[in-house]
Amino acid sequence: MSVRAMSQPSPLDIVIAGGGTAGWVAAATFARFLGNRASITLVESEAIGTVGVGEATIPQIHNLIVGLGLDQADFLRRTNGTFKLGIEFADWVRSGESYIHSFGQTGRGVGLIPFRQLWLRGRALGVAAEFGDYSFNIAAARLGRMSKNAGSNTIPELAYAYHFDASLFARMLRDYAVERGVRRIEGMIVGVEREPESGDITALALDAERRVGGTLFVDCTGFRSLLLGKTLEVPYLDWSRWLPCDSALAVPCESSEAVRPYTQAMARPSGWQWRIPLQHRTGNGHVYCSRFMSDDQAAALLLANLDGAPLADPLPIKFTPQLVRFTLPSRPVGRAGTLCRRDLGSTGATSFGVPVGASNPYHCSDS
Ligand SMILES: Cc1cc2nc3c(=O)[nH]c(=O)nc-3n(C[C@H](O)[C@H](O)[C@H](O)COP(=O)(O)OP(=O)(O)OC[C@H]3O[C@@H](n4cnc5c(N)ncnc54)[C@H](O)[C@@H]3O)c2cc1C
Repeated sequence: MSVRAMSQPSPLDIVIAGGGTAGWVAAATFARFLGNRASITLVESEAIGTVGVGEATIPQIHNLIVGLGLDQADFLRRTNGTFKLGIEFADWVRSGESYIHSFGQTGRGVGLIPFRQLWLRGRALGVAAEFGDYSFNIAAARLGRMSKNAGSNTIPELAYAYHFDASLFARMLRDYAVERGVRRIEGMIVGVEREPESGDITALALDAERRVGGTLFVDCTGFRSLLLGKTLEVPYLDWSRWLPCDSALAVPCESSEAVRPYTQAMARPSGWQWRIPLQHRTGNGHVYCSRFMSDDQAAALLLANLDGAPLADPLPIKFTPQLVRFTLPSRPVGRAGTLCRRDLGSTGATSFGVPVGASNPYHCSDS
């Protein structure tokens, strides 16, 4: 079928702009839950590529994996994934000190009394150990262990998420979506057509002559924010006053011998560094404020703190910490979080907040 022929809108003719993590999460989810009640088209451009740095997740990622009916072992194999029990924050409070912010439950409450109250009382009496000593996740993480379905009446199950190669994950979801009827179009979006009176988006113009029409558009064009930002001119709230980091460098390195089942986030003089263990490599990045550190200094600091040989040159990423203010034509609906109207939804980096949450795939599937 030609692009022209399939551009005739049907009652639910969904067009997804962009094929990074966000685009393929959206395509796979629509395909799974709408089946043949919608026609789904995704447009992406290999010439632009993807950000590809979203490698750490939070436990809500299970909703997506289970919802799509993916097999966990197959998913881990295909994305070179590893288990994540929490995040270790090193040198944030004092140099040389670290703590693990773990997923899941810490300690046990008694009746209506939550564990933290018992622990505070125990600390005051001098009988309680460190808070983290009551977390099975932290004990397992420190030992480099992981177990599924280990829960019993007395031991809670370990709560976990994953680290994975974001590009491989997008490719896996792409196969999943295409197998279920999603049409993928390779091409550069060069224009956006709108209905003159309502202003609703009606079609994407590709290259010189192709156009893809639809009734619902999903903006997954990443930081370009082609539909939400450039076309609808939805203003961003610049948060750089509170979140001054505006630059990042990402570099993969060889894996260290023991794969840690947690992410590491190390404080640095003008930002922080992440370390994410995958099966075949470790993902690293340095997020920093360009007002206080040059790109060269940031790169040197990052390369000096890898736990294996670098596998590429550091990839620079520039961004503005921001929230999206979004209003319907006649009815204000608030700030971040409401990113849709009757002709448009948006998800992924196009509605990007701060790059520290490891929650991008979750927000993509949730929105
Ligand atoms: C430094 C940093 C670290 C991060 N770490 C994490 C993390 O650990 N965990 C996490 O969950 N998130 C993380 N994030 C956030 C997450 O990586 C990104 O938000 C997410 O990867 C972006 O995916 P995306 O699909 O929205 O955008 P992208 O990957 O940028 O994809 C955009 C897509 O749009 C297409 N496109 C754009 N313009 C056009 C056009 N004109 N024509 C055709 N196609 C077009 C591109 O081809 C591409 O397919 C991080 C972000 C940063 C900056």
